[in-house]
Amino acid sequence: MKSIEEKIQDLKRERGAIIIAHNYQPDEVQAIADFTGDSLELSRKAAELDEEVVVFCGVHFMAETAAILSPEKTILLPDPFAGCPMADMITAEQLRAKKAEHPGAVAITYVNSSAETKAECDLCCTSSNAIAIVESVPADQEIIFVPDTHLGHYVQEKLGREMIIWDGYCPTHSRIRDVDILREKSAHPNAVVMAHPECPLNIRELADELLSTGQMCAFAKESDATEFIVATEIGLLYRLRNENPGKKFYAVSDRAVCPNMKKIDVEKVLWALEDMQHRVVVPEEIANKARRSITAMLELS
Ligand code: SF4
Repeated sequence: MKSIEEKIQDLKRERGAIIIAHNYQPDEVQAIADFTGDSLELSRKAAELDEEVVVFCGVHFMAETAAILSPEKTILLPDPFAGCPMADMITAEQLRAKKAEHPGAVAITYVNSSAETKAECDLCCTSSNAIAIVESVPADQEIIFVPDTHLGHYVQEKLGREMIIWDGYCPTHSRIRDVDILREKSAHPNAVVMAHPECPLNIRELADELLSTGQMCAFAKESDATEFIVATEIGLLYRLRNENPGKKFYAVSDRAVCPNMKKIDVEKVLWALEDMQHRVVVPEEIANKARRSITAMLELS
């Protein structure tokens, strides 16, 4: 009898499908993926795909981004309820109201947002290119930054540039406490602390490096350091350990788990391929508008 993994490989060939997974996916899902990455890496991958069918192991806004960039492809999200609470913290209507208060402002949305929100924005950004995207806006223009307050304030601090920042946040990164970092630092005094800019200020202040998950992977590979404390969702540890077998990685907290990312498992990937579900489709008018902000980001980064 064939294993689930063998059935998935057979169906992938039959359907002309590719499996892509975010760095926060469960280990066993990352193990069967053809490609893993952060939001920017996945956006780029989605834009250049040859395969007709994409099984997107991540949360809903990520599959939507792939559907916006490749409207002719079949984008499947193995669990239709895998959402992102931060993305739900702003609606297109709320953003329209904020834009009406600041006519002429450039609206920038973090990629962790709905297609409708992206459609209302001029530019999209990810945690790895947010600084470059904000820098691309002329200094005399106001900027509305949504939905992540922590990423927004991180960029504001780095560039010394005031922005109108929404008050959304990631509940998973908000579970990381300063005492967690201090405990790990005291247990591993030679370790470099890498934190994600979605973390609150008190965590960012304790970090040696503030990096997106893709940047953490690159930094860990290139660094002479051999020990790292990782302040982000624990799924990233799988990739870091796989890519750097001679180095040690310590999760800062086992509470830094995104329940939505963990809704997907190998069985659901198999069912997605068997039943060709759950297809993510973005209405054409919204997709056309949202594509402009994502394409502008890809061109600038
Ligand atoms: S880790 Fe945070 S930002 Fe990422 S999908 Fe989960 S809730 Fe959303």
